[in-house]
Amino acid sequence: MRKLLFLGPPGAGKGTQAARIAESSNIPHISTGDILRSHVARQTPLGVEAKSYMDRGELVPDQLILNMVDERLQEADAQNGWLLDGFPRNVTQATFVDKLILEKMKTAGIANPDSSQAFQVVYLEVPDEVILQRALERGRADDTKETILNRIQVYRSETSPLVEFYRERGQLLEINGNQSMDDVTKSIKNAISH
Ligand code: AMP
Repeated sequence: MRKLLFLGPPGAGKGTQAARIAESSNIPHISTGDILRSHVARQTPLGVEAKSYMDRGELVPDQLILNMVDERLQEADAQNGWLLDGFPRNVTQATFVDKLILEKMKTAGIANPDSSQAFQVVYLEVPDEVILQRALERGRADDTKETILNRIQVYRSETSPLVEFYRERGQLLEINGNQSMDDVTKSIKNAISH
């Protein structure tokens, strides 16, 4: 039962790699950004509220995100593993992942559950100057340069502390994201446990 988190700066190629690995591992690719964009397109109450944060490159508040992820992970296709892309994005969200996993392990009757054994974290490492260049190149039609720069800033201050958090717990698979797309995919496949 494979459970993976994908971590890395905006423009690291996370979405593309996550889709490839989810497909080859036969697990659902759960991207919080994709789910949020679908809410925005459908103008659901969540979408309407989330939009202003997304337009600015800010994180959507945790109380909107946590419930959304909880519900998604309860769906049938997520019972035998999953790949989370774009979540967690801060320490509160990382704590929430642990809590969900521990609850599941307890329900399954596992004694002394340890969430750090339950999933691996794929970290795509890309040098700062490459991140900026790539993020500007791939910018979605509705992205302004300001939004992109803000997203990078938010990543540095809120999300990047998770790298150390997972490294200390021995869960981090550090992947050189500054290679061709196919080579990055190969490196990830080699690193994740079989
Ligand atoms: P992404 O497609 O992952 O780059 O996400 C696009 C935007 O959606 C981000 O800039 C945030 O505004 C929002 N978003 C996606 N995932 C999260 C999350 N886990 N927590 C908060 N906001 C998120």
